[in-house]
Amino acid sequence: AGLYAARETREWQTMDAAHHLHPFSDMGALNQAGSRVITRAQGVYLWDSDGNKIIDGMAGLWCVNVGYGRTDLAEIAYRQMLELPYYNTFFKTTHPPVIELSQLLSEVAPEGFEHFFYCNSGSEGNDTTLRIVHQYWRAKGQPDKKYVISRRNGYHGSTIAGATLGGMGYMHEQMPAQVPYIVHINQPYWYAEGGEQTLEEFGLARARELEAKILELGADKVAAFIGEPFQGAGGVIFPPANYWPEIERICRKYDILLCADEVIGGFGRTGEWFAHQHFGFTPDTMTLAKGLTSGYVPMGAVALKRHVADVLIAAGDFNHGLTYSGHPVAAAIAIANIKLLRDEGIIERVKTDTGPYFQQALREALADSPLVGGVDGAGLVAGIQLTSDKASRGRFENAWEIGTLCRDFCFKNNLIMRATADRMLLSPPLVINRSEIDELVEKAAR
Ligand code: PLP
Repeated sequence: AGLYAARETREWQTMDAAHHLHPFSDMGALNQAGSRVITRAQGVYLWDSDGNKIIDGMAGLWCVNVGYGRTDLAEIAYRQMLELPYYNTFFKTTHPPVIELSQLLSEVAPEGFEHFFYCNSGSEGNDTTLRIVHQYWRAKGQPDKKYVISRRNGYHGSTIAGATLGGMGYMHEQMPAQVPYIVHINQPYWYAEGGEQTLEEFGLARARELEAKILELGADKVAAFIGEPFQGAGGVIFPPANYWPEIERICRKYDILLCADEVIGGFGRTGEWFAHQHFGFTPDTMTLAKGLTSGYVPMGAVALKRHVADVLIAAGDFNHGLTYSGHPVAAAIAIANIKLLRDEGIIERVKTDTGPYFQQALREALADSPLVGGVDGAGLVAGIQLTSDKASRGRFENAWEIGTLCRDFCFKNNLIMRATADRMLLSPPLVINRSEIDELVEKAAR
């Protein structure tokens, strides 16, 4: 028997509409239509309250990296809850799960990432990144380095600071004010904004907007640049290959911290442990969440390179923390989850087998579609560009409508895909096998 009384779908929907406010939703419209009620999940599949079996092409919200239904993670949570369900790490206390997790993260993270600050989500991770960046420059005696530069159509979360860092105009519009000292430059989205430039010209030009912005503000006023290695919520936009190396060069030249938001890219999405490794650059900080616990419970973290951590550690009190920073149950699950990703070879398989298979299958299946202008992606993440005219990289005027139509069509077909305007996104659990990939691609291409 399930944990909850068996109810008809309509009854669930009515109760849901009566008391539950959904994130990022038009509640009036949703209450009319009724939400789909997801009742259970296993592997890469979900079931709804009508008994439909749905293939989850998005791993929830890009997070269920080890797939659903891992009883080993459930058992760890149960045992940790019995042993130590909660204790804080504020006032001269710590506990084994958070110690072990930090040790393990330092082993799987690239060289030099040895210190980790914990929170509960990606948004809080980026808020924390901002706090750390400011504390870093204060401690180094350069408190005027306050500006943080991010990108239009980047996504960094939904807290006030996260939404300010993000470049989503529709989020900015609904806030009375934004966090000061955050400024945006253009995104490296060649298909839509590249015009007549080659990928290479465009990659360099967009990276050099960072340099121009630094010179405009004054390098002694700029603290950090933050970006997703590939834009996730913005449409799985992979920048031209020369973009990140140029960004890194500019950050080093002007002594600006380079912060990678690895909330989606981290923990194997591209076939590397962290997406910046795929793009060949080295950040100073990484924001982590989602795949850290495969979404089984909430957890986020900020990883710091040694030189940043050293300054923070020497600076005395850092007046930032959350009740659940390093929560023991979340930490226990994160440890078990990372060990699965490593010891079961899940990330390795994405790199050498399922990732290349998925990328090729998707490209082949969509190659002849007049509606598809191209596919971005690596490993098990992809962005499909819809187009009104392949030859001229034409964009639909009603891009959001078209994307939503495609998404709803897939949804009815029992495939979860996401749409951002005229881009269709896929990011399945990393445990997906070849025959499940075939099913996913066949449904996506319909
Ligand atoms: N950063 C990136 C790149 C994200 O994609 C997201 C969420 O999708 C966030 C931050 C915010 O994470 P959360 O929703 O856990 O606050």
